[in-house]
Amino acid sequence: LISWSTVLGPTVRAGGASLFAVVVSVAYPIGDILLLTVAVLAFVQGSRRRGPLILVSLGMGAMALSDGAFAYLTTSGSFSTVSIVDLGWCVGFALIGLGGVVRSDDALASSPDRAVVPASVLPYAGLLVAAVVVLSQNLMGRAVDRPSVALSTVVLVLVLARQFTTLTDNRELARIVNARETELRHQAFYDGLTGLANRALFINRVRHALELQGRDQRPVSVAFVDLDGFKGINDTLGHAAGDELLVLVARRLGGIARSADTLARLGGDEFALLMEHGDDPSAMARAVVEALRGPFQLNGRLVKMSASVGVATVGDETGTLSADDLLSRADIAMYAVKRSGRNDFRQYTSDLRLAEGDDMVLRQALADAIQQRQVRAVFQPIFNISNGGLVGYEALARWRYNGADVPPDVFVPVAERTGLIAALTSLMLDHACGQLAAWSAELGHSTMLMGVNISAQELGDPSLHQRVLAAVASHGLAPDQLVLEITESALVANPVTARMTLTSLTDLGVTFSLDDFGSGFNGFSQLIGVPLRSVKLDQTFIADIDTDPASRRLLEGVMLLIRHLGLRVVGEGVERPEQLEVLRAVGCDAAQGYLLGRPADASVIDVLGQVLASDVGLTADTARL
Ligand code: C2E
Ligand code: CA
Ligand code: CA
Repeated sequence: LISWSTVLGPTVRAGGASLFAVVVSVAYPIGDILLLTVAVLAFVQGSRRRGPLILVSLGMGAMALSDGAFAYLTTSGSFSTVSIVDLGWCVGFALIGLGGVVRSDDALASSPDRAVVPASVLPYAGLLVAAVVVLSQNLMGRAVDRPSVALSTVVLVLVLARQFTTLTDNRELARIVNARETELRHQAFYDGLTGLANRALFINRVRHALELQGRDQRPVSVAFVDLDGFKGINDTLGHAAGDELLVLVARRLGGIARSADTLARLGGDEFALLMEHGDDPSAMARAVVEALRGPFQLNGRLVKMSASVGVATVGDETGTLSADDLLSRADIAMYAVKRSGRNDFRQYTSDLRLAEGDDMVLRQALADAIQQRQVRAVFQPIFNISNGGLVGYEALARWRYNGADVPPDVFVPVAERTGLIAALTSLMLDHACGQLAAWSAELGHSTMLMGVNISAQELGDPSLHQRVLAAVASHGLAPDQLVLEITESALVANPVTARMTLTSLTDLGVTFSLDDFGSGFNGFSQLIGVPLRSVKLDQTFIADIDTDPASRRLLEGVMLLIRHLGLRVVGEGVERPEQLEVLRAVGCDAAQGYLLGRPADASVIDVLGQVLASDVGLTADTARL
């Protein structure tokens, strides 16, 4: 438009110019406008290397100016071969050349958002120029000619078009942001696998229901559902099948729950149902047990399943309760079901409170079993990851009661609560040391290690030192073959005594391993200054390292920190070769898990064969390693 009103218009109006001359004359200003646009865009949008960009932009500006002046002078016939115009071209080329030589000054680099304002007003500058040109033509008493009107209209239409695309862009952006937000909110409140509410949302709903209950006194009940033997299915059929089963369970529960109830997956194989509309909680719980009792069809095979359900209710007679209290009551009732044989439901009653009644029955049986040495030890091997050599074994307690195996997760806590843990640990120390002595004699050396689990509370017990010594001495062992496995909570609960016990036993040569690392995550601070030999990465911590990149990155970071503290690392619960591969890649020292060997009775373990095989490196196990 500017060119038209200053140079092109007069030239064309003067007539006589050939078509070729007009095209060339038009090409210059258009080319200059393109150059200027590129320069301005590069300048406005580039956040780095501003120095050279300024020079190049100025250079282009100078050339555009000279081009314009040249065209003007030519048409007005006043152009001579040497003029001030040449200076513009010289300066233009010089500035562009300089821009290539000058190093970018990073100090000039600015944040990109500084560019947003100039960039967004740029289109309106075009509009303003058009208005000024047309107006000045008018003021100078010239009629506004058609090309000027056409060009101004083009500018206007372009700006409007841009406005429009910005608007639709914004709308699209808002849509994406909204979708992401909904998705995030969904992730925060719903379980990804089953689509049910998660713990956070569930607690929230319970809280809300309790508030309402405080006003209208309508009873609120929570049913806590835990699958029986789910871990076994996970272990034998694999995690994928386990996940599928959880989805099927969620579907069956969904079939029972009324639409006003809140159904949630609290984690693992735990589900919960909130009933706040006057349903009969016992009838619901019975329906849940019944529905989950039937077999499930998993990958073409039928899997038997059952569930234990605990119910807790807040009514007018119970007084006020917090959401957490209500849930933990349902949990206590659920545990009572587990102890009395699973596959049933139970309503919480105050006498269940500490589950003492059940504890006491078990306690007597457990005390007798320890006394008669009926609590046995099984041994699970630990292997060196880099050379496949046998490092040693971990001793794990086993108890058979009334013809069924009671899991250590059940009877060890009972022993802890009822004062039997010292006797249990002493028995396990004796089993472990006896077996270690036998295996060391068979091997003809004493470098094999034996891990024994020590409960958190025992580190505060001054008699532990003496009992460990007695067990080691009575089997003629060197204390440095014994590795006591302790948990983080032992260090947190009783920091001073725990450290004293650790130090006094370490002085004798006994070493310590930090068990279940990564399961609770109290942090690293309490690891500092504690005489540990190694850290055992919890099974849950390494569960997804071969499938989930985030999980692997976390492992890598944690490995760095642990290695920095000079500790060895044992990966626990290794079930897949891919997990082992990742552990090896990140520099883990040793591994333990079903992939390499299940806990087994000493009578079926051929320790000499195990060591020979791993020395020669020929067995399937070591090939895997
Ligand atoms: P823990 O010390 O972390 O022992 C490892 C547990 O993981 C054992 O379960 C073991 O059988 C299991 N495991 C090993 N490899 C794998 C695998 O590849 N996959 C899976 N899914 N599991 C694997 P277990 O024997 O049932 O022991 C459970 C917990 O009971 C132990 O966890 C330990 O905290 C406690 N415990 C066992 N024996 C004793 C004991 O003698 N004294 C004390 N204080 N606690 C014990
Ligand atoms: Ca352990
Ligand atoms: Ca562990």
